[in-house]
Amino acid sequence: MTAGTFERDVDRHPWLDVEREALNQALAHDRLGHAPMFLGSPGVGKRALAEWLVRRILCLQPRDGQPCGECHSCKLIETGGHPDLFRLELLEDKTEILVDQVRDFIASLGLTPSIGSRRIGLIVPADRLNRNAANALLKTLEEPSGEVWLVLVTDNEDRLPVTVSSRCQRRYVAVPDKPAALDWLCQRHGDRDRAECELALDLADGAPLLADDWLTGVGLELGLSIRDGLAGMISGRADEASLVAQWRETPAESWRWLARFSQLWLHGVLATPPNVLADAPMPVAGADAGPILEQCWKQALEGTRLANRPIRHDWLMQSWLSEWRKLSHA
Ligand SMILES: [Zn+2]
Repeated sequence: MTAGTFERDVDRHPWLDVEREALNQALAHDRLGHAPMFLGSPGVGKRALAEWLVRRILCLQPRDGQPCGECHSCKLIETGGHPDLFRLELLEDKTEILVDQVRDFIASLGLTPSIGSRRIGLIVPADRLNRNAANALLKTLEEPSGEVWLVLVTDNEDRLPVTVSSRCQRRYVAVPDKPAALDWLCQRHGDRDRAECELALDLADGAPLLADDWLTGVGLELGLSIRDGLAGMISGRADEASLVAQWRETPAESWRWLARFSQLWLHGVLATPPNVLADAPMPVAGADAGPILEQCWKQALEGTRLANRPIRHDWLMQSWLSEWRKLSHA
């Protein structure tokens, strides 16, 4: 890989430029802290920024505030084999990061660096540390040894123990301005028209990477078909069994959309219907609709949390739909 393509790859989120420059300044003046934590909504680029920072810190010859993409260190990161970079992530089929993982992670960070003098531990998603895992991490967070950094990423700071977040240097990654995000999306998706890009961006609450993901695959189409199915249930036109049969194929994505639309419909009942529901019927704004939608939203969030578990999602979805169906009488 040439330096040019490497730079394009890591620098392809223009709305993060300001934050990257702030990180460069912090590094230059020794103000970064040893446990920067990136916070913000899903899809705004927190992880991309954290990965960039990892490259920037480990690069042996950064140029103009960017990782060079050519040195031994950059090349090893690119191939996933850097011996001084340790990742603490969810194991497959697990919903929490476990204490044994943290112990191994801390032991690895204590090793002598193989290349250069720096080591980094990247923790994503930090809010999935369970209580014991978080406790095991506290001492390392507070007093990292030598040139060791812990970089944390979370969508959900509320789920993170205060003992952890209070030891980190919080860096909030904001949703970018809509025109800039929309231009970026349209550039990346020349095959889509601007209205589709805007719809995806609106559904993503302005988070460009989430919208990008939906526009790249069939995520947007899946979302719209779920929206229409839900509207059909309210108006009594949709067939429950065929909806569940469709949703169970991709439980993680389906639950996320069910949560998103419950939230949007709730907003529509309490305030004004958002544009993305313009073609979909609203439940009668009776006193009952709000609590039903809130219940649907919570259940869908729980479904999202369990999405990777080998459980009967079709049963959960049927139960979810029986709640949603109440809207036709609300
Ligand atoms: Zn480099």
